[in-house]
Amino acid sequence: MEVRTRKIKAEDYQIRGGRMKKCKKNRKNVKKITLANQLSLKKLLSLSSNSENNSQIMKKECVLVCGGAGYIGSHTTVELINAGYDVVVVDNFSNSDISAVENVRKITGAEIPCIEADCCDMEAFRKVFEKYDFNSAIHFAASKAVGESVQKPMMYYRNNLTSLMNLIDLMREFGRQNIVFSSSCTVYGEPDKQPVTELTPRKPATSPYGNTKQISEDFLRDSVAAYEGLKSIALRYFNPIGAHPSALIGELPRGVPQNLVPYVTQTAAGIRECLSIFGDDYNTPDGSCIRDYIDVTDLAKAHVAAINRMVEGKSEERYEVFNVGTGRGVSVLELVNKFQEVNNVKLNYKIAPRRAGDIIAIWADPTRANTVLGWKAERTIEETLASAWAWEKHLRGIK
Ligand code: UDP
Repeated sequence: MEVRTRKIKAEDYQIRGGRMKKCKKNRKNVKKITLANQLSLKKLLSLSSNSENNSQIMKKECVLVCGGAGYIGSHTTVELINAGYDVVVVDNFSNSDISAVENVRKITGAEIPCIEADCCDMEAFRKVFEKYDFNSAIHFAASKAVGESVQKPMMYYRNNLTSLMNLIDLMREFGRQNIVFSSSCTVYGEPDKQPVTELTPRKPATSPYGNTKQISEDFLRDSVAAYEGLKSIALRYFNPIGAHPSALIGELPRGVPQNLVPYVTQTAAGIRECLSIFGDDYNTPDGSCIRDYIDVTDLAKAHVAAINRMVEGKSEERYEVFNVGTGRGVSVLELVNKFQEVNNVKLNYKIAPRRAGDIIAIWADPTRANTVLGWKAERTIEETLASAWAWEKHLRGIK
């Protein structure tokens, strides 16, 4: 195995290996780190190197968060720490920034070992298992843009499936038990009936991304059935939006945002000229598509509930599935109007043609998560849209 380190040598921070191409790509990403982030990085590195024997120091139950620098991963790390867990983050920063981990440290005041490694790189990933003593892992380390997956299907299959297979193999090899998986309501396809329950049949996926979520769920179901000692919960997310109330972490899309709310906030900030609303001629009350928008902090808390359930031995089955949504369907036009109202801003928008591959309407029946998992969405859509705007303003230095 080839292990490469950056000029700043910090084993705790960085475990790297494998193919030259990946390393080059990572080096490119590293170059993008701003001066401010480099300062943060140094602070992080010095903290990490002070904690050579993290696994010995840690007394609390520890959770590995794969993709912990990302949007949902960073919010979940905050909530895990608030709930009394220790967290180890592993991330390849392919679609995230080290500043997110630094800001999670600021919010929580906790020491968070952060390892730069690609979960697809088995040897690098194995080192994380050798070094840290966790019994639970949450798997966020995957690509997530539907449109991109149609353009680059092999990248999606390779990245999303290899990283999960490696995780399952390593959990078995090291005798670790619990896996929480980031699934998606995309597994339901275009449902015949609303709202969807966990028993609503999964329809053929409409994109390679959706297909990776279905296949990943199957990997977990079959692995748990075959390998004693493994337990898993798949959380089927609806549409995560918003940001942490501190406005220190939030969604950080690279390039032009693919999702609605980052596009809305960037338009409000003047970065994008005009929001396109994809279709107003659907068979819905106002003609635009309907989704179940779930606050990212609420979603993060669902992961804590899932970890608690497995750690406390409360799972009824060794593989379980929960919808994580609010139960509230909101149309694109409603969301845009609410955003303007709540934040007192004017959005420049136009009606554009339908977007290929869009599901017309989907929202959750969250009864099972409410009653069995003991989790419920709490924040109102107004609070969430205010937090999304606060985060965008924080990012752009808007008062
Ligand atoms: N949408 C839109 N304009 C945009 C981005 C998204 O009208 O710039 C619509 C999209 O067609 C869908 C809804 O917003 O009806 C949610 O899309 P998003 O990409 O955020 O999530 P998805 O449900 O597709 O995963």
